[in-house]
Formats: sequence, structure tokens, C-alpha cells
Amino acid sequence: MLVVLLPPGPVRFALYALVGVSAVIATAVGQWRNWPARPVAWLLVALATICFVVGDLVSLVVTSTGPAGDGSGGAGDLLFVGAYVAMALGLAVLLRARGLGHRWTARLDGALVTVNVALLSWVFLVEPTWQSLAGLPPAVRVMLAAYPVADVVLLGGALTVAATAGRRNHAGRLLVAALGCMLLADSYVQAGRLVPELGSSLGVAQGLWLLAYVLLGATALHPSVCGLATDAEESTESLHPGRLVLLAGWMLTGPALAAGQHLADAPVAVWPILLTTPVVIGIVLVRMMVMLRRLTDQAERLSALADTDYVTGLPNRRRFADDLTAFLARGTSGRGTVLLIGLDRFTEVSDSLGRAAGDEILEATARRLRHVLGRSAVIARTANDSYGVLDPTTTTTAAAESVASAVRAALEAPHELPDLTVSLDVHVGVVVVPQDAGDAAGALRRAELATAAAGDRPGRVAHYVAELGEGSQATSVLLKEVSAALDAGQIVLHYQPQVCLLTGRVLGVEALARWEHPERGLLGPASFITAVEQSGLIGPFTEHVLDTALAQCAQWHAEGRELTMAVNLSVRNLLDPALVEKVETALLRHRVQANLLELEITEGSAMVDRRRSAEVIGALAGLGIMLSIDDYGTGYCSLAYLQRLPVGRLKIDRSFVDAVLRDTGSAAIVRSTVELARSLGLTVVAEGVEDDETLLAIQGMRCEAAQGFGLGRPVPAAQLLALLATIEARLPLLLGADGRSVPNPRVPVG
Ligand code: C2E
Ligand code: CA
Ligand code: CA
Repeated sequence: MLVVLLPPGPVRFALYALVGVSAVIATAVGQWRNWPARPVAWLLVALATICFVVGDLVSLVVTSTGPAGDGSGGAGDLLFVGAYVAMALGLAVLLRARGLGHRWTARLDGALVTVNVALLSWVFLVEPTWQSLAGLPPAVRVMLAAYPVADVVLLGGALTVAATAGRRNHAGRLLVAALGCMLLADSYVQAGRLVPELGSSLGVAQGLWLLAYVLLGATALHPSVCGLATDAEESTESLHPGRLVLLAGWMLTGPALAAGQHLADAPVAVWPILLTTPVVIGIVLVRMMVMLRRLTDQAERLSALADTDYVTGLPNRRRFADDLTAFLARGTSGRGTVLLIGLDRFTEVSDSLGRAAGDEILEATARRLRHVLGRSAVIARTANDSYGVLDPTTTTTAAAESVASAVRAALEAPHELPDLTVSLDVHVGVVVVPQDAGDAAGALRRAELATAAAGDRPGRVAHYVAELGEGSQATSVLLKEVSAALDAGQIVLHYQPQVCLLTGRVLGVEALARWEHPERGLLGPASFITAVEQSGLIGPFTEHVLDTALAQCAQWHAEGRELTMAVNLSVRNLLDPALVEKVETALLRHRVQANLLELEITEGSAMVDRRRSAEVIGALAGLGIMLSIDDYGTGYCSLAYLQRLPVGRLKIDRSFVDAVLRDTGSAAIVRSTVELARSLGLTVVAEGVEDDETLLAIQGMRCEAAQGFGLGRPVPAAQLLALLATIEARLPLLLGADGRSVPNPRVPVG
């Protein structure tokens, strides 16, 4: 800036040119280095700088060579006009890029500033300039008066860009400073016309211009320039007192100006003030309304956030209770079903696998619920491991229970996480409103009781009934009783034959637990096995079953009947590293060959902790034991995964077998499973064969073995040999096989 201190002459001219050209080069370098978005904007800014600099130089030449004029040189002015247009276009591109054009608040703020600045610049800048230029040709007069206006407009544009780019954007500030300098420079020139003493030192204006160029170059060089052309973030409206004062202040510009002019004994600019003040008041009012509207929206958003579970985006327990209250208040139309769904072991899984995995399971659960229940249901996350559902389309207990079962089936499908598969068990409590509970709090409480009870139910779904007082207490009582029953020898085994479909002979039996209850009679596993499987009692329980079954196996062997013995394992057994040793010692104790023992695991149990269960399964198979997949088809395990396990048999679930004659879909599933299993070297057992037609159909599908009431029900050991005799007297004929000639392939001869 020291250039302007030099006396006018070639040196000063050259230095001035140097600063100007450096600004242009800086813009180009900045462009190339920072590579800001919207390069067009910066090309226009660079073009404007070039025009300004060259225009200045031309004017300098004209003033120094020609007669001292008013600073207007024909070619120079043309370049200036070009510069302003280019700069204005550049800013317009930036403003567009920031997406401000779409925003009401930004438009209103812009209009407010523009009207006020227009008033002030009219009164202080344009009008006096216009007057001072009296006598010049009209075209020149218009052009000269237009400079300050153009400066104000550009400054306004720069201010808007910078203000929305945020406080930390230095490039924005530099841009504003550059345009501010231009305005100052032109104002100075303008002042020089009114106050002759100033006019003699035009160097100040030139200095300001040079500063403006330097600042423009610096803007382009600053790395934060990239932030100027990216879309502005939607700022949240704040009811900051400063903002309100500012808004009110804008309304006072006109009156304050009038008062000031009056006090200074200057002529009051009546018309401009009268024209702009109502416009400003109108804009401020609209702006205030927009602000208020935004604030109410924000308040609504905040309250929605407070009612939302942040992992799944579902309503939380509080919102769910509110929705339920509103629903019940609808009277006759407020009928529906409330489900409370608990995910077993969720906390355990999320603790051991990490938060991200836990969140993924929660989100997937929410999606599955939505998929099963459709749009009409309200779905909420009511606690860390539970979801609430209000289904307005289900109004009867029977329908509610089937919906609950469908939900359970969907949620128990395994979750495929990046490096393992997890399936969680689910239990569901059902409350039908308003029959079971008339208010939200009551419905939720009862749903909780039902959910607790569901954990002990075979289908893991429980409908609320008045007797459900203390669900979990009932479980612990039951477990104590089963434990005592084990000690008292009340847990006995019944044996169900498994028949070879090639020969019609019985190959082996499955051991099924029964409780000889002193008061309630013979109880099936449905009334106690779930509670046992979920507790540590399953360890001793399985040991007892194994021991009893192997003792029985050895006894039949001694009596001359070689039968395989299938024993059911539960998930917890597979996760117990001591299981392998227990099985091995039991085999040794009863002197039963390992290949006579078959252990049944369900698809799901092999999926719970793939690594651990695969280890146990591998070790069991290593002993020479046959492993089979029970209830095949009800889980979601892929054959591809099962194939990697040392599994030898698939037991197709009875729901498919039962339906082969009625349902072509089930028939297709059984047929393709048999084929696939064969190709993988597995044998297939059809479970739940209840009649001869089904048996023949299954045989036609090349299934190797079958089990079911139609062949023989589970019976106590004492009745088994008699049952075998009946079966073997009838079946070979029915199956068209000669029972005597084919040996049991599983049992070595000799
Ligand atoms: P599962 O392993 O699928 O056993 C077959 C069940 O189906 C048995 O019921 C059997 O009586 C029944 N069943 C057999 N044929 C037919 C048929 O033709 N039609 C019909 N409707 N049902 C048939 P059960 O004995 O009530 O056992 C139920 C479940 O309890 C078993 O299903 C098994 O998962 C479990 N369980 C039984 N004993 C034990 C045990 O010792 N340990 C473990 N962990 N679970 C056991
Ligand atoms: Ca079984
Ligand atoms: Ca089964």
C-alpha cells in the first residue's frame, strides 16, 4: 500500500500494476491449489479483479496524460462496469451454490438488509453523488452514481455468503473485507467531490483499492475458500435476544434517520423513508412469524426425540403408553392386541459381541416386526431387550396368539452378523384390550406378567390370564420340583421306534423324557422341558437321560436286540465343554459302542454360538457318535452351514411330513430335502408319520427312515420289544420289503 505514498509517475504506476497483477495471479493459484467447488464463481472473481486492475491502470494513464478530469476515462469505465458485472455474477453463483435461494429466512433477511442499506446508501451516497455530478452529461452522471450502489450490492452479497459460511470461515471474512474496501474507496472518492480538501489526496482511495485486490487474492488462496461454495447447513433458529434486538433495530432505521436529519437541521429524506419503512416493518413481521414457526417446529422435534428410541427410531415406552392411552380412549374402535416381546439373552449377546452388533440386532428386530405386522401396528422399543406392539387389527385371543407366534418365528430367525450368526430366543406376552385391561398402565403391567410367564411355555407365547400372578416365581418353583423329581427317579424315558423304510425293520429308538408326577400323573416334556432348558438344571437332566438311555440300550443288547439310541440335546448342553467327557464316560460305564448312540440337536442350537457348538459337535463326532439335526426345516439354518458340521442325519420336522399328502409345497420341501441330503451324504428321517398313506408317500420320496404315531408311539422300555414285534410283523409287507435280508446298516454285524 506504500505504493500510494510514492509520487505519481512510472515507478508508482509499475508498482501499482505489480500489486494488481499479483492479486490476479493469487486468484489463479488459489483456484488451482484449493480447487474450490463452483470454479466458475472464482473464474468470475478473477476476471473481475483483472478488469478492476486494468481499468485502474487505464484510468491512471488517462488522468496522468490527459487533462485532469473527474476520474472517468472511457475505456477504464467500461472495464469497471465489466468488473462489477463479473463480481456480481461470481457472488450470485456462490449464493446459488449455498442453496440460500430456497430458504425463506435467508431471503427475508436478505430483503431486510437490502431495503435498509438501499435507504441509507440512497440518502448518504447516491443522492449526494447525483447532486454533485450536476452538469455532467446524463450518461456519465448515471454511471458515476452507480458505482457506490454497485459496491453496496456486492458487499451485501459477500456478507450473506460469509455469514452463512460460519464464523470460522476466514475466506468469507477476507471477501467481505475486500468488498468493504472497495465501498470505502468509492465513498472516499465520492466524499472528495463534496469536500474539496479530500479530493486532492486520491491516493487514499487508490490505497484502499490496492488493499481490496490483495484481500481478493488472499481470499482465493485461503484453504477455507472451499467452504464458501458448499451448501449451507440448515441452521437452527435460536431465540437469541441479540437477534430480536437486531430485527427491531432494522425497523427503526427510517425513523432514526429522519430524527437524525431533523436534529442536524439537514433536509429530511421524507419520501425514501416513507417508502421503505412500511416495507421493512412488513418484512420484520413476516420474519418474526417464520421464526416463531421454526421455534414451534423445533420444540415438536425435541419432544419427538425425547419419545424416540435412538437406536431403532421407534417410539419408546413413554410414547407407547401414550399411544395406547389414546387408542383405548377411542371407545368401541379402541380394540386390539398388545404384545410385549422379550429377547432372551440380548444383554449377554450385546455385551459379548459389542454394541454395534447389539444395535444391528435391535434394528433388524424392528424391521422384522414391521414386516410381520404391517403398517397399521404401533411398534415400540419398551426396554433394552423388549419391544411393545399395539396391533389394532387383531381383536380376538386366538388371532392374537397366532400373531404372537408369527412374531416369534420371525424374530427367532438368525441374525447374520459380519463374522458370525446369532439367533435369539423370543418370548411373547399377549394382552387383548380392552377385555384384559382397560387402561394403558394396566395393559402394560399385564403384558409384562404374560411375557414373564411366556418364558416357561412350550410355544413361548402366553396370553394374560388372571392367575398369572408371579410368573418368574412359578418357574423357580417348577425347577425345584423337577430337580427333586430327578433325585426321586420320577423322570423316566419312553422310547419311540425309528423304522428303516427299505426293510420295514426297527433300527433304533428315540428316548423321550416323561415325568411320573405323583399327583398329576404322567407329564410330557411340554410342561417342564423349556424351564429346564433355560436353567442350569439341563446339565444334570441330560446326564440323567443319557445314563438311563444307555443303560437301557445295553440291556436290550444283552437281550439280543441291537438298537440305536437317540437322545435329545439342548442348546446349553452344546455350549458345555464338559459334555464330551460326560458322554464318553457314560458310554464306557454302560459298555455301549459309540455308534449306537445318536445325539439330536436342533438347527437353532447349532447356530447360537457357532464356534463353541461346532467344537463340541466335532468332539462328539470324533467319539464315533451319530449326530442328527432335529426338527429340520423349522429353523433357518442353511444346509450349506450344516454340511460343514459332522452331522450324519436330518430329521425332517413333522409339520412338513404331516402335510405331504395335503400340501404340494410341503411335499416339494420333503422331496428336495431328501435329494439334497443324499447328495451331501446324509440320511433322512421323517418325523411324525401318523398313517400308512403318509408312510408310503415318504417312502416314494426315497426317505430312508421314519418315526411317528402311525408306526409306534413312545412307550416305556418294558413295552418296547412287544411294539417292535408288531411293527416288524406288519411293515415289511406294507413297504414291499423283505425284512430279513437287509441288515441294519448302522450296526456292525458280529
Ligand atoms: P422331539 O425331539 O421332536 O420329539 C418328538 C416329539 O414328537 C415327541 O413328543 C413325540 O412324542 C412326538 N411325536 C412322535 N411321533 C409323533 C406323531 O406321529 N405325531 C405327533 N403329533 N407327535 C409325534 P414329546 O415326547 O412330547 O417331546 C416333545 C419334545 O420335548 C421333543 O421333541 C424334544 O424336543 C423335547 N424332549 C423330550 N425329551 C427330551 C430330553 O430328554 N431332553 C431334551 N433336551 N429334550 C427333550
Ligand atoms: Ca428329538
Ligand atoms: Ca423332532
